[in-house]
Amino acid sequence: MKESIKKQLIEALKDQKEIFGDEIFEGKIIKKTSVVTSPSVKSELKFNTNKKPSPKAEVGLPVFVKEDKKLKIDDKNIFEAPKDNWELAANLEDLNKLICNCHKCQLGTTRNKFVFGSGNPGADVMVIGEGPGADEDAQGLPFVGRAGKLLTDILKAIQFERDEVYIANVVKCRPPGNRTPLPQEMEACMPYLKKQISLIKPKLILCLGLTAALGLLKKKDSLTSMRGKVFDFENVKVMVTFHPAALLRNPNWKRDCWEDVKKFRKLYEDIVLTNGKE
Ligand code: SF4
Repeated sequence: MKESIKKQLIEALKDQKEIFGDEIFEGKIIKKTSVVTSPSVKSELKFNTNKKPSPKAEVGLPVFVKEDKKLKIDDKNIFEAPKDNWELAANLEDLNKLICNCHKCQLGTTRNKFVFGSGNPGADVMVIGEGPGADEDAQGLPFVGRAGKLLTDILKAIQFERDEVYIANVVKCRPPGNRTPLPQEMEACMPYLKKQISLIKPKLILCLGLTAALGLLKKKDSLTSMRGKVFDFENVKVMVTFHPAALLRNPNWKRDCWEDVKKFRKLYEDIVLTNGKE
């Protein structure tokens, strides 16, 4: 298959996923499912060896029982894990310095520049995207390409100057070929975003695109069902709309985006302009 056609197909599939979520790629055709557990959970589980088979076992399903877990003297969970230096950072500048050489996931090996985020450190509004693209990776700044310009225009349309808000991404390093960040990459990077949020203390967050929304809110939903709703992330109100890059590929989604951001502005006026920032 020609490279350009392949690229178009990938972009089209990404757009489908963007709007409808993972469900359309998931498995009515998959008959078998497996139980996946983290190592820590696995250690708590073992196969039921009771002689009397349970109803589940009779129909061929794996049965797990919880191991009787007594607290041992060396159990690590009785002590809090020592904090990494970056967790103690008192401001964004220090945090950036402490994490900018991160290699916690594979994206650290392929990035050109680490993209921490930019904007007003005391912003009432944070805008969160998926991850750096080629332009961002080259410059070390978020949303600087065509999608960045569109984001600036969207913000202007709802009366925000770009430097009035704070812009960051779910992952701080560019996924090769602009692919969607993998769940483990988002998981590895999320503590940095949480720390940024805790330092900035925004009143509202606008998530751009499904990946950013799912990464932050830990939901398994489609963009269609999340748009227009107000979510909560650690006492910060969150709304979701399209990623500007998706709008560039599908200009007919701009009208829906406009409806979303008007609601976001209204929420901002209700929360921030009416009550003032604490
Ligand atoms: S994406 Fe995040 S976790 Fe992965 S290397 Fe970059 S900064 Fe570290």
